Order: sequence, then structure tokens, then C-alpha cells
Amino acid sequence: TKFSELNLDPNVLKAVAEAGYEAPTPIQEGAIPPALEGKDVLGIAQTGTGKTASFTLPMLTRLATGRARARMPRSLVLAPTRELAAQVAENFDLYAKHTKLTKALLIGGVSFGEQDKLIDRGVDVLIATPGRLLDHFERGKLLLTGVQIMVVDEADRMLDMGFIPDIERIFQLTPFTRQTLFFSATMAPEIERITNTFLHAPVRVEV
Ligand code: AMP
Repeated sequence: TKFSELNLDPNVLKAVAEAGYEAPTPIQEGAIPPALEGKDVLGIAQTGTGKTASFTLPMLTRLATGRARARMPRSLVLAPTRELAAQVAENFDLYAKHTKLTKALLIGGVSFGEQDKLIDRGVDVLIATPGRLLDHFERGKLLLTGVQIMVVDEADRMLDMGFIPDIERIFQLTPFTRQTLFFSATMAPEIERITNTFLHAPVRVEV
């Protein structure tokens, strides 16, 4: 398969070409087509497999039509640590550079002021650690009822760090009709339980 056969938004495809990628990796080949169809995806993949692009590219493609509204992000990416969230944000900047899509990165150790300003203005993609996202929500600055796509990255590390209750709470704050793209390196029983509860007939892609 070539990237050009995957039905990605032309502006996203252009950024992929400029990144110098020759072909999709196995997780990308498996996850991108169902994600573009709006299906839930359960991706079982380690870091280094290209999993970040496997959720970012279809997410950007699906968001390419439509625009952000004040305080109502259209998609949400949750990562377990500041560093991982920042990496997802860097990937967003790379793949979204020819689109008009916007993001905000919500992580601890950064003042709320700048993050609030971006949220108020409206962002397409919110990239966050679970605790920081809930901090913003509880301050009444943020609505999650406009979330069309929710990504959970590195769920097994979320489990190790005790974030599963936060993740469940965040799932419950988003619409039932959202699309979920859920990634974990392993499938512990607790992860299996979460996916059974919150994913709707997911396509399972294991690499
Ligand atoms: P990840 O597993 O998302 O952390 O990605 C690992 C690395 O692979 C990152 O540096 C990406 O830029 C790179 N990458 C992702 N997809 C591809 C691809 N299709 N071809 C070559 N490199 C890629």
C-alpha cells in the first residue's frame, strides 16, 4: 500500500510526503482505513511502530472539513506523560502544517493562562495529560460535548500511573457517539475492561 491510496486529505498527504515517508507501517496500514471510516480502533502496538501517525493522519483528515468553536475542542488526544503529550503535539504540527487545523497542548508545569486563551479561541485538537485536562474542565473553562474523536495513547502506561479512573471520567464527559482510537502496547485485564466498556465494535489491529 502507498500513502496515496489511503484516502487521506491532500494537505495531510503533502505533509507526509515532505516527511519523507515511503510507505505506511503495518499499524498505519491496519488502523488508518477503519479510522477514516469512522470506526473505533483498538491498536495494540509499541512506540516506534508509527502509531502516532496511525491516529493523527485519519484524525486530521476527518477534521479537515468543519471548524473549531470556542471552548469546544473537536477532538481529544490523551497521553500519560507531559513528554509523550508534547511528542504528539510535535507530530500534529508536522502533519497539520498545510491545513488550517489548530491545537492546544494541556500539560502540567505550564501556566493556565496561555492554555485558557487557546481554548477560548477554539481548537480542533486538544492534546493533554488526563489530570491536566480534568483540571481545566473543573475550572469550567472547557466543554467536552463537542468531541467527535477521542484518542487514548499508551493506555498500559496510563494504567501503571493510576490514570484509569481519570480516563473513565473523561470518556463519560464526551458524547456517546464519539469515535475512539485506543492504543496500548499490551492488553492487561483492566485495559480489556475499559475497551469493552467504552469502545463500540472496535476494529482490532495488532502489530
Ligand atoms: P511512533 O511509533 O509514532 O513514535 O513513530 C516512530 C517514528 O517513526 C517517528 O519518528 C516517526 O516520524 C516515524 N514514522 C512514522 N511513520 C513512518 C513511516 N510510514 N515511514 C517512516 N517513518 C515513519
